[in-house]
Amino acid sequence: MRPLVATVDLAALRHNHALAKGCAPGARAFAVVKANAYGHGVREVVTALHDDADGFAVACLEEAAEVRALHPSARILLLEGCFEPLEYQVAAHLGLDVAVQGGEQAEALLAAELERPLNLWLKLDSGMHRLGFSAPDLRDWHARLQGARQVAELNLMSHFACADEQGHPLTAQQLESFLSLADLPFAGRSLANSAAILSLPQAHLDWLRPGIMLYGASPFAGRDATALGLQPAMSLTAQLIAIREVPAGETVGYGAAWRAGRPARIGTVSCGYADGYPRNAPAGTPLAIRGRRVPLAGRVSMDMLTVDLSELPEARPGDPVELWGAGLPVDEVARACGTIGYELLTRVTARVPRRYR
Ligand code: PLP
Repeated sequence: MRPLVATVDLAALRHNHALAKGCAPGARAFAVVKANAYGHGVREVVTALHDDADGFAVACLEEAAEVRALHPSARILLLEGCFEPLEYQVAAHLGLDVAVQGGEQAEALLAAELERPLNLWLKLDSGMHRLGFSAPDLRDWHARLQGARQVAELNLMSHFACADEQGHPLTAQQLESFLSLADLPFAGRSLANSAAILSLPQAHLDWLRPGIMLYGASPFAGRDATALGLQPAMSLTAQLIAIREVPAGETVGYGAAWRAGRPARIGTVSCGYADGYPRNAPAGTPLAIRGRRVPLAGRVSMDMLTVDLSELPEARPGDPVELWGAGLPVDEVARACGTIGYELLTRVTARVPRRYR
């Protein structure tokens, strides 16, 4: 088998889930498992959290159907909601909780004949300006939907734009906007993503929505996940499949984009952009071999990448190479690539086998 594997530590996942819930005793949590559980494998993640999770959150109906097949009783929140009556029928059949982001979605709901009423989550646009009702519209729709035959429960939700930057003024504004609807009766309220779970107790309310923290990456730019008590759930590990000596002045890889400034020892690693490793990772992006950081050298190819082993003479072909994981935080790699851990984790492609322990 090709020496590249994403090993997922389900005990770490459960630890992180317990940590999220421990931040807000009394609150329930929708474990966010959209995008194949942030690349970790939705089947295994849902199964691992089966007995602990109060619910799961997904982006779309296809994901919801997959989770429902694995967990017949959990609440499943459909974050993007439904766009036409037929979708509401499917949601009712699956017994979903459904976010409603705007008037068109609410009208489609009222036009639907459902086999059973739905738990709705009215989404307030509290300041992100991506989705959601304005506060006055939300009040109007609350009045219209209360008692509608399609509605079992009305709940309230919103989403933070900047909770990852602690102290950002928009976060306080969004919280205030959300709390300004406190006079309306709702069965439940949900506002906190991972960053708010870890840093903003006022936002905890009834239902948490932890995503990235479940997978052991940091929701905060520049704050280490392990310092937050999180354990990385995924280790992406490849192998050194070749080593060669490259004379000073010679170049390495496509585009001859990296030049050896001195005689260099170049290792070739069995992971490329078709596996999800970012092609735009710059030279110097860290990888870990034998517990030491080594820098990426040259452009990432489809199936391989190259590293400068000049400072690691003991490296040998066959050595395991950690792209990220327990010894090299995904957030550190993401920072070097100008992105976030979320993107690296969700980009690991289907050809990379996932192993679970
Ligand atoms: N809630 C909503 C509506 C989201 O879209 C997401 C993720 O994008 C989350 C919660 C989870 O956020 P995080 O992964 O930052 O915890």
